[in-house]
Amino acid sequence: MNTQYDVVVIGAGIVGSAIARELSGHELSVALLDARSDVGDGTSKANTAILHTGFDATPGTLESAMVSRGYHLLSEYSARTGIPIEHTGAILVAWDDEQLDALPKLRDKALANGYDRCEIIDAAAVYDAVPDLGDGALGGLTVPDESIICTWTVNLALATDAVNRGTALLTNHRVDGVDVGDDHTTLHTDAGSVSARWVVNAAGLGADHLDGLFGYSRFTVTPRRGELIVYDKLARALVNKIVLPVPTSRGKGVLVSPTIYGNVMLGPTSEDIEDRSATATTADGIEFLLDKGRRLMPRLLDEEVTATYTGLRAAIDHGDYRVEPDAAQRYLLVGGIRSTGLTAGMAVAEHVRGLLADAGMALTPRANLPEPPRMPNLGEAFTRPYQDEARIAEDPEYGAIVCFCERVTAGELRDACQSTIPPTGLDGLRRRTRVMNGRCQGFYCGAEVQAVLDRQVASR
Ligand SMILES: Cc1cc2nc3c(=O)[nH]c(=O)nc-3n(C[C@H](O)[C@H](O)[C@H](O)COP(=O)(O)OP(=O)(O)OC[C@H]3O[C@@H](n4cnc5c(N)ncnc54)[C@H](O)[C@@H]3O)c2cc1C
Repeated sequence: MNTQYDVVVIGAGIVGSAIARELSGHELSVALLDARSDVGDGTSKANTAILHTGFDATPGTLESAMVSRGYHLLSEYSARTGIPIEHTGAILVAWDDEQLDALPKLRDKALANGYDRCEIIDAAAVYDAVPDLGDGALGGLTVPDESIICTWTVNLALATDAVNRGTALLTNHRVDGVDVGDDHTTLHTDAGSVSARWVVNAAGLGADHLDGLFGYSRFTVTPRRGELIVYDKLARALVNKIVLPVPTSRGKGVLVSPTIYGNVMLGPTSEDIEDRSATATTADGIEFLLDKGRRLMPRLLDEEVTATYTGLRAAIDHGDYRVEPDAAQRYLLVGGIRSTGLTAGMAVAEHVRGLLADAGMALTPRANLPEPPRMPNLGEAFTRPYQDEARIAEDPEYGAIVCFCERVTAGELRDACQSTIPPTGLDGLRRRTRVMNGRCQGFYCGAEVQAVLDRQVASR
C-alpha cells in the first residue's frame, strides 16, 4: 500500500496531534503516524500535568514564547472541549538564604517572560497558603496562574479533533526509512509505505533518529528520566496548590502537586539515561523522592501510595526547542520539546503552520470545520457521570459503577470503546476513563474491565 498525503506528521503525542489538528483545518490531506497502537502513548502520557505560565522559561527563547502562547491556547481549547483544568496556582518555596535571594530575580524573569502576577511573600504567608509544608521555609514566590490539567484528555482531544477534521490516523506505523524524491517523500514503515509532499517530524524521543534519515546529525536526544509518586486521595487535603522548588539548571526540580484526579503527586526526578524505553521506576529514584518529600511535607509520607510512574523527557544538547524547516526536502523538524510540551503543543502547531506558509505551502482555511469534540470529564472537581442523576435517568449505564476506587461506570467504558479513537488495550482505556487507576490498581475490577474491552473489540 502506498498512500499519498500533502503532509504526514510523525508522532501522535500532544505535539504531533496538535500539528495534525492545526493543518487539517486547511485544504490539505494530512496523516498522523505513530509507531504505537494508540495516540498519546509516549512522553505525553507520563508527565507532571501542569499547565505552565512560562514564568521561569529563559526569556527570548522559542520555548518561552510557545509556553506563554500555549497556556492561553490550551486554556481556551479546554473550555471548549471539556478538558479538565484546575487553576490551583503555585508557590515557589525558598528553603535557604541563597534561594530567598533568588526570588526577586525569578520575579524579574517572569516579567521578562510577559508574566506579571508573581509576588514575593514571607514565610508566614507561605505557611498560610500551605499549612502542612515542612519546617524551615523562609519565603516564597506566588505564581497564581499555574494550573493542573489532564494530559491524557489533552492528547486525545487534539487527535480526535484532527481525525474529525479529516486527518488519517495511522497507528502501528514505525518509520524506519525515508526516500526524498523531487516532489514527494516516501516513508517506509513496518506497515507499508506512505508518501507525503511534506513531512513533519514530531517524534519526541525518536526525533533525532528520524532527523538522521533526512541526512542530518545536528542533535542527540538524551532521555531525561522523571520518576513520580502518586499519593492516595485522602492526601489531597494537604495540598491545595502546586508547591515548587527554586528551579536549577537541571530543570524545575521536585514538586508536590494536587492532581486533576484528586490525588497528590511528588516528583519528578531528573536523571539522564541512555535507554529510550526505560519507563520503569527505580529504587534509587523513589528513595530520592521520599527524602525530598520528608523535608517538603513530612505528613505526606504518612499517606498511602497509590502508584508510581516514570516519564522520559526528550532532552537535547541545545537550550531551546528546535523547530526548523528544510524547504528543499519539504521537511520540518520539531525537536527538543523537553519538559513543557503539554503546555506548548498548540502554540508549536500554530508556529509550524506559519513556517510552512513561509516555505510556500498553500494554506487555505477549510470552510465548515466540525466543532471541537466534547471530551468526557475525568476531573475530580467537576461532575462525573456517577454523580449526575439526570444522566443516569436517561441511561442507567452511567449509574453502573465498574471501578469503585475511581468510580468509573459501564457507560463511560462503553463510550470510550465506541469513540472516534477507541483504546487498543487496558492502558488506553485507563487514560480515557481513569478505570483501574485507583487504590486497588485494578485488583477488583481488572477482570471485568478486560471483559468489557474484549466484548467491545469483538463487536467492532
Ligand atoms: C516527568 C515529566 C514531567 C513533565 N511535566 C510537564 C508539565 O508539567 N507540563 C508540561 O507542559 N510538560 C511537561 N512535560 C513535557 C511534556 O510531557 C512533553 O514535552 C510532551 O509530552 C512531548 O510531546 P511530544 O508529542 O513531543 O512527544 P511524545 O508524546 O513522546 O510523542 C512522540 C511520538 O512519536 C512516536 N514516534 C517516535 N519515533 C517514531 C517513528 N520512528 N515512527 C513513528 N512514530 C514514532 C512515539 O511513539 C510517540 O508516540 C513533562 C515531561 C516529563 C517526562
